[in-house]
Amino acid sequence: MNMEDIKSPFDGAVVGEAPVATLADVDAAISKAVSGADLWRHTPAHIRSAILLKAAALADERSEEIAQIISGENGKSLIEARGEASRSGEIIRLAAFEGSQLYGSTLPLDANKGTGLEKLGFTMRQPVGVVVAISPFNYPALLVLHKIAPALAVGNSVVLKPARTTPLTAIALAKCFTDAGLPEGVLQVLHGPGSELGDALVKDSRVRKISFTGSTATGTHISSVAGVKKLSLELGSSCPVVVLDDADIEYATDAIALGGYINAGQVCISVQRVIVDEKIMANFLDALKPKVEAIKVGNPKSDETKVGTLINESEAIRVENSIKQAVSDGATLLTGGARDKTIIKPAIVCGVDPKSAFAQDELFGPAIAVSSANGIKEAIGLANSTIYGLGAGVFTKNVDLAIQSAREIDAGIVHINWTPLWRADLMPYGGLKSSGVGKEGVRSTVNEMTEEKTIILHGRSW
Ligand code: NAP
Repeated sequence: MNMEDIKSPFDGAVVGEAPVATLADVDAAISKAVSGADLWRHTPAHIRSAILLKAAALADERSEEIAQIISGENGKSLIEARGEASRSGEIIRLAAFEGSQLYGSTLPLDANKGTGLEKLGFTMRQPVGVVVAISPFNYPALLVLHKIAPALAVGNSVVLKPARTTPLTAIALAKCFTDAGLPEGVLQVLHGPGSELGDALVKDSRVRKISFTGSTATGTHISSVAGVKKLSLELGSSCPVVVLDDADIEYATDAIALGGYINAGQVCISVQRVIVDEKIMANFLDALKPKVEAIKVGNPKSDETKVGTLINESEAIRVENSIKQAVSDGATLLTGGARDKTIIKPAIVCGVDPKSAFAQDELFGPAIAVSSANGIKEAIGLANSTIYGLGAGVFTKNVDLAIQSAREIDAGIVHINWTPLWRADLMPYGGLKSSGVGKEGVRSTVNEMTEEKTIILHGRSW
């Protein structure tokens, strides 16, 4: 295979190399995965679990090495990369546990009219078989592990296609599993351009499940070509945060100054739209501005840096232009927005028309769009006004308004008194509307990576 240099988005330095797969490699990998799936589903769950626990211990041991790889190829600060890498072992352990909990249920068949006590019915869960996992660049460890660890725990084989820009983290994580004793063919990493390899991976009838995280555009394409197979799609968003007039402004602005800018805003659950009750707008902006201006951006490897680069310069230019366009459409740039190569100063854009592209389209950059609302009804209407529905946050001290918000906001995850940028690896995680189909979160993924079978034993009357 041809090798490709993987470069730092910060300074272009080569941080490693990865072999580039061809269409013939895709075919060979799926063939191997078919044998891998057969072997692995016939391996008892306690043996699978023991191998995963060993992989988790290796991921713990190699956490610093993995953090350096993440920061090197992705450009996020080492502080953030260490946080991400340190969750690896825990996700694998969670998967090892959940993968050993494939309980079924007994069916009360005699409650069916005309059926006696001679039959016995129950359900059982089995691995789907070959899983294709396709992951994005923004959390190269976390989003890979949320797919492969539960898939392997329940007995599937996996062909993983990580983002073109961040294959090294995926390769390092896969090594934890193979070094732990995962048999050959059960987990394979294919590096290469999604636009060329994607259809071959997704259309293949030997593949029984596609687990995709990425943009809504790519997810839409995948769902149009995949054919009849299980599909999980974790897609884009424009997450809203509503700040009601009784909110604790200091607390809300602390949370927003984190939630809008972590990972340079390249997070599907990043705060993009902030909908503030007009009565508290001035105080809200006064409190938020210094907190956003205090975020240290720069060299990802420096201990001072909180927020690193965007994934590449063309993405940084796209975000810079979106901010400029919002301003020329009538919004005000309160702070930030300047670009230095792949780094953008955290920005607050106020007076944003909620119908404009800056609010409606996913930004995936370090800026928030602030708009005003008059009361909860208008605020929830605006929160629900995009095609997306992944995460949302509401700040209020009033429990009635909190409950109303939780019920009425169209999002897969609603946070009361925090922003959407929060995740526990065990919780169900996924979007509504154009933000996706299906749920991740280890227990949910175990469900999505298995099939439920119904078994009926037909005895004779005695
Ligand atoms: P992307 O461009 O859609 O790419 C995601 C993955 O799909 C990459 O591995 C990419 O490969 C591959 N791909 C590209 N074209 C394909 C095709 N035709 N068929 C199959 N696979 C193909 O997304 P991204 O820019 O990496 O990530 C950012 C997006 O991910 C944002 O929209 C963000 O909201 C979303 N995201 C969602 C969640 C969630 O949980 N909902 C979490 C994280 C990110 P290449 O890299 O080789 O192009």
